[in-house]
Amino acid sequence: MDVLPKIQALRDELNLHNYNYYVLDNPTISDYEFDLKLKELQDLEAQHPEYFDENSPTQRVGGTITKNFETVKHEYRMYSLDNSYSKEDLLDWERRAQKILGDVPLEYTCELKYDGASISISYENGKLKRAVTRGDGFQGDDVTNNIKTIKAVPIKLKGDFPEKFDIRGEIILPFAGFEKMNQELIEIGETPYANPRNTASGSLKLQDSAEVAKRPLDCLLYSLIGNNLHITSHFEGLEKARQWGFKVPKQSHLAKNMNEVLDFIDYWDKHRHEMPYETDGVVVKINNLHLQDELGYTAKSPRWAIAYKFKAEQVSTKLNSISYQVGRTGAITPVANLMPVQLAGTVVKRASLHNADQIEKLDIRIGDEVFVEKGGEIIPKIIGVDFSKRPSHSEPTKYITHCPECQTELERKEGEANHYCPNFYGCPPQIIGRIQHFITRKAMDIEGLGGETVALLFNNGLVTNFADLYELKKEQIIPLERMAEKSADNMIKGIQKSKEIPFERVLYALGIRYVGETVAKKLAKHYKSIDAIASASLMDLILVDEIGEKIAQSVIEFFDNQENRLIIERLKQHGVQLEVSASNDTAVSDTLSGKTFVVSGVFEKFSRDDLKKAIEDNGGKVGSSISAKTHFVVAGDNMGPAKLEKAKQLNIPIISENDFIEMING
Ligand code: AMP
Ligand code: ZN
Repeated sequence: MDVLPKIQALRDELNLHNYNYYVLDNPTISDYEFDLKLKELQDLEAQHPEYFDENSPTQRVGGTITKNFETVKHEYRMYSLDNSYSKEDLLDWERRAQKILGDVPLEYTCELKYDGASISISYENGKLKRAVTRGDGFQGDDVTNNIKTIKAVPIKLKGDFPEKFDIRGEIILPFAGFEKMNQELIEIGETPYANPRNTASGSLKLQDSAEVAKRPLDCLLYSLIGNNLHITSHFEGLEKARQWGFKVPKQSHLAKNMNEVLDFIDYWDKHRHEMPYETDGVVVKINNLHLQDELGYTAKSPRWAIAYKFKAEQVSTKLNSISYQVGRTGAITPVANLMPVQLAGTVVKRASLHNADQIEKLDIRIGDEVFVEKGGEIIPKIIGVDFSKRPSHSEPTKYITHCPECQTELERKEGEANHYCPNFYGCPPQIIGRIQHFITRKAMDIEGLGGETVALLFNNGLVTNFADLYELKKEQIIPLERMAEKSADNMIKGIQKSKEIPFERVLYALGIRYVGETVAKKLAKHYKSIDAIASASLMDLILVDEIGEKIAQSVIEFFDNQENRLIIERLKQHGVQLEVSASNDTAVSDTLSGKTFVVSGVFEKFSRDDLKKAIEDNGGKVGSSISAKTHFVVAGDNMGPAKLEKAKQLNIPIISENDFIEMING
């Protein structure tokens, strides 16, 4: 008799039991019976390796080791969410949306904001294909093997699913599981984990998937992405996803208007602690997908969604001491060392004090009982002092006058909040910090070299600036702590490879104050080479679109410095890209310079994002809504009626994508 039907029947049965247990929270057989069936399947699969299936429930126990997670580009970018903190914020948001959409009635989906690590999972023909972390939103790490061990994630879908789609959600660690993990650590004398969220996101990057399988992770889904999904609203998408076997929290609610949204928020502000996992807010999304499309995105987040953050929780605890950290720009940050205290699911030991003014304003003294709050950020902050508990002998805090790392006298510029250590070239954390910035993903993206290794290289006198990296020799690296032939090879290979990084990113990597990614792009595009930037005058720089005096001044200062010029000279000799390469330059033009475009509808030859990119690459600007300043509206199918009306009113030419293509081809 053929065993394949039997194997398949067992797989289906086990998948169903996993679903009942982990998604529905409603098991129909005992754990013991489940284990027996799993064992039976394992045995059959072992006897018949020809029927191996990577999506069998037996594969959920993990065991694959991933040394380096592969970087994968997201087919659809993973945006973040704008935050709001009050009803007024929400009403403002609604007003802004309504202004773009016109006077249409709006419905909203309300979901809890799950606090974990975001994940994007691709399915094809009902099978789990790939799971990728959010990363920087454009690309993330392929963590498929680890995600498969999470039983709430279906590996095979049921019902009437589309052929191909992505689903987005959050990998979380419920409180109970988190506490159990910590209990086990405490028993063996290890340090417990600080909070569920970091533990969840750390779990995704464990090399051994069998370790991940042991962690009680869960996966809550909140959005479907793809073409031909045959859904017209977000809420419908959630319901469909649920039918296909995904865990979509049933708290998600369709609100008919903003008042119902506010009711939902009020309710959950009071009841959120009853949830088995951490939630720090509510996510409100405009339900109609056409309207979502109409609203589009800002640089970072969708205009059709907003997160409402619950008010942070507070506790009071004792301030034991203050220490001072030196950042890569030399800025000093005072840090409070606190008597450890439990706050919003984490143990808090340290808090940011921001700067000298803040300490003075709040009159914070060592020995004080202080109020600590955890807002959206990971590091909690001190918001005040309990003066009734102040010890009688306490003294006002004297801010340090000299750098704790290099003893140089600190400076504070007019109008700046922070003190700075001016010892740019001699202060260790500044040097290390700059090199750490240089190697990051958005900058030179050097594989095989991490932040800690940079510190190690510096402490061993091997690198003190960017150029030194390119002169490192294998023999120098191998003797260092935790280094070996292989890691040294990888490091050198990674450094050599960074010579291919385009000029705009090199410029960003240099860490010139106020020159972030966007400014670096602007400067690179305008000047085309580092030499041209270095010889530009202040006036010259200010005349570049969107470069203000503060940035210009900082650029001038950077290139005035002899040491910087030397380092750049050396980088040039090593072949680092210090000018725009020809291949990067031809794809762009200035044809659309001075023209503002608004994009609306769906296109055949471009995705909306590609169309916007094409506009910018050719020197044009992309506007978000139609106004008197708009020069052209590029319209695709299903252009929103409100936009059409507005464009007609203002007499703005509406062009097709073909007209647009003709326009850029001259
Ligand atoms: P932020 O990282 O603060 O910009 O918030 C955006 C993140 O919130 C997303 O990347 C998701 O990981 C997470 N998130 C949690 N719950 C939801 C939800 N219900 N809908 C959308 N995003 C959510
Ligand atoms: Zn210093």
